[in-house]
Amino acid sequence: MTIALSNLPYDLDALEPYVSTETLSFHYGKHHRGYVDKLNMLVEGTSFAGLSLEDIITKARETSEIDILNNASQAWNHAFLWESMSPSGGFKPSGQIEEMIENEFGDLDSLKHQFMQAALSHFGSGWIWLVQDGSSLRILTTGNADSPIGTQMTPLLTLDVWEHAYYLDYKNERKRYIESFLDRLINWNFAASNLTDQEAHQAA
Ligand code: FE
Repeated sequence: MTIALSNLPYDLDALEPYVSTETLSFHYGKHHRGYVDKLNMLVEGTSFAGLSLEDIITKARETSEIDILNNASQAWNHAFLWESMSPSGGFKPSGQIEEMIENEFGDLDSLKHQFMQAALSHFGSGWIWLVQDGSSLRILTTGNADSPIGTQMTPLLTLDVWEHAYYLDYKNERKRYIESFLDRLINWNFAASNLTDQEAHQAA
């Protein structure tokens, strides 16, 4: 069993003009596919073959298999990224996640501000995450291919700040790219669908 390239949940031109068809074609069709293909090559015939992507990440981290960890993590992160955006994104969150945002950040604008600051102050390539940590929300950044998978935190949504994610459309203007994500693309329904039930969680 090999790891499959996850489906893009919308057409390649669906995020125009905020993410161009050209960017998405390369990002999904070349970069994401490249990580999946490399991973399948690396795990073939090893004790990683046949494991789920999440299990590969956890095991590779434990055994310091850095090449496998990086490619598995990038395969997972990109699949999660596509779901974190939507052609009809940028709407106001509602329900439980809205309540959690208010409790943690005060309001949505404050969350966006903190997300922006985290993204702008992150040096080099990496990922910005909204995660659930117990009953609260947190924004965190990871470098290069790293992710919160295998920690006690649950990823709710992510943004890719590798230059390949935005350079064709925004050149060096990372701030405008992040604004487009926060105001036009962010998919709160996906974030809400990733919330874990804390009572069930604590009882487990
Ligand atoms: Fe990427």
